[in-house]
Amino acid sequence: MKMKLKKYLFYLISLVLTICLAFGILFLGHLDSFRDFINKIEQSSFDLRQNILSKYKEANKNIIVLAVDDESYEYITSKYGSWPISRSLWAYTIDNLEKYNPDRIIFDLLFVAPDLKDKQADNMLINSVKKNNNVYLSMNFDYTDDEVRTPENLEDKLKANIKTENKNYFDGYYTTFTNVRSVMKELRNVTDKIASINVNRDKDGIIRNATPIYSYKNELYPNISLMVAQDILGQKELKYENGAIIIDKNHKIPLDETKRAILNWYGGSRTYQHISFWRVLKAIEKNDSEYLKKNFENKIIYIGTTTTSLSDIKSVPVETNLAGVELNATFLNNILDNNFIKKTSFKVNILVSILLALFIGYIILQVNSVYKTLIFLVSLLVLYLVASIYVMQKFNLWISLTIPYICAIIAFILIYLEKYILKSKDYEQTYKLAVTDGLTQLYNHRYFQEQMLNQLNTYKRYKTPFSLIMIDIDFFKKFNDTYGHQSGDAVLKQVANILKRNSRTSDFACRYGGEEMTIILTNTNNKDAITTAQKICQTVRETPFTLVNGEKVSVTISVGVATADETIEKTQQLIEYCDKCLYKAKENGRNQVVHEA
Ligand code: GH3
Ligand code: MG
Ligand code: MG
Repeated sequence: MKMKLKKYLFYLISLVLTICLAFGILFLGHLDSFRDFINKIEQSSFDLRQNILSKYKEANKNIIVLAVDDESYEYITSKYGSWPISRSLWAYTIDNLEKYNPDRIIFDLLFVAPDLKDKQADNMLINSVKKNNNVYLSMNFDYTDDEVRTPENLEDKLKANIKTENKNYFDGYYTTFTNVRSVMKELRNVTDKIASINVNRDKDGIIRNATPIYSYKNELYPNISLMVAQDILGQKELKYENGAIIIDKNHKIPLDETKRAILNWYGGSRTYQHISFWRVLKAIEKNDSEYLKKNFENKIIYIGTTTTSLSDIKSVPVETNLAGVELNATFLNNILDNNFIKKTSFKVNILVSILLALFIGYIILQVNSVYKTLIFLVSLLVLYLVASIYVMQKFNLWISLTIPYICAIIAFILIYLEKYILKSKDYEQTYKLAVTDGLTQLYNHRYFQEQMLNQLNTYKRYKTPFSLIMIDIDFFKKFNDTYGHQSGDAVLKQVANILKRNSRTSDFACRYGGEEMTIILTNTNNKDAITTAQKICQTVRETPFTLVNGEKVSVTISVGVATADETIEKTQQLIEYCDKCLYKAKENGRNQVVHEA
């Protein structure tokens, strides 16, 4: 039981070590590049999960994309002979679409500077926007040098209406900007439905997040999809609470540490129905009201370019070529469905890692086969991946994959190593027990015989001499009778210690039986063996032995010495010869060494 407890303690220590090691790797030191590497793996695992799950999600059918695609580009330039599209054409489009009661028209295009050559076109657009209060225009924040473009002061009406304890909360690498490509002043005068279409990429160039609130000149501005969602849900005021932007009870945007929302993807390009701009223009010309009604009535229309030359190509987890307009549509869809992805907290990731490492430790304890444990580890990691996909599907949670994986692998290696060390220690202990005499801690009789055979074989092959010393305590029966058996045992131990102290590590001091002991002296000739024997005999003679009651008495021994030579065929011969010497020592009056029978 004690042994088992010790084992579990070992595993516990390795578990703690695992966690420390894993988090040490992740968070200590200045291993930025390593951390980036870990992030990359984590993000890839997120992309994998999103790719799998997006197939099972249904996007909002009311959101459509009016795409200024390559064909529209060609159609318009051939028909109207100019690019960019004249603002009069946009006014014309808005006015015609409005006939079919679209829910919203959102321009993912910028109307930045007044058209000095065609003031009338500008006026048409201004009138059209003024007339229709469901048209949204976009602006784009950036970092352009203020000598190139003076940062404009934006009207108060464009600010985000958000209640927050600390406005600085939204300051950050992805959220704070110093300049803006805004909408021309004349348009700003007629509408307050103007918001940002900024998107930003992660370090690896992939867009996984959307920014709901931007900070510009110490004021906060909303993203266009957030603004549209607010209007759809009829919520004028936003609140920021517990790490989330709250639109209403059922619509919250959780923010990560970068102050951005993690998007939940419904699919890649064409997730939302695309309608080519040229088809719409043709339908308007032909007055094809059936087509226009079917496609635009009650629809949320995002207008943007998907032209390869004009739309910047965006990579998202589920698509390498996504038009920005589709990104904004996805953001709106996420808000309306209230299904943003949330990252699990650091604590949860640690807990999961500990549980995983514990489970691995337990299995290593139970299973003895290395292959089986390896198969188990791989299956566990695969199972964990499946679980992480399930958790994302069911709870919109992004549970860390890398931290638990690192922990699992380190735990596996450490615990296995420990198991191996403990096992070899166990084996050593068992072996020691099998060859040792319990009372004297000398080698036992069986080991003595084994070693004699070894030595004789070595002698026969290499002619390395070896000797044998046999010891018998004098009048020990009487000693026992006088002082008691326990004191006899104490003396046996003390004599054994003298033997150990006077033999080399290459020698084998053994308990032959009863109060008889032997030493096999390897690589030792007769002369050296006699010297050793005499030294031992003298030491015993001069040592005061302690009885169990503390009293000191003297004890003597008789010693026989024999050395192997050509005549020795079997170990028994040498033992008998040595025993004869010992017998002679007894006969000669004991307390002496005899080396010739
Ligand atoms: P001698 O000088 O002739 O050797 O006399 P002896 O009394 O020592 O005779 P012998 O060697 O035949 O006696 C062995 C005695 O050693 C018998 C037994 O009482 C004692 N003995 C053997 N093994 C143990 C042991 O493990 N513990 C104790 N206390 N005594 C032992
Ligand atoms: Mg004896
Ligand atoms: Mg004796």
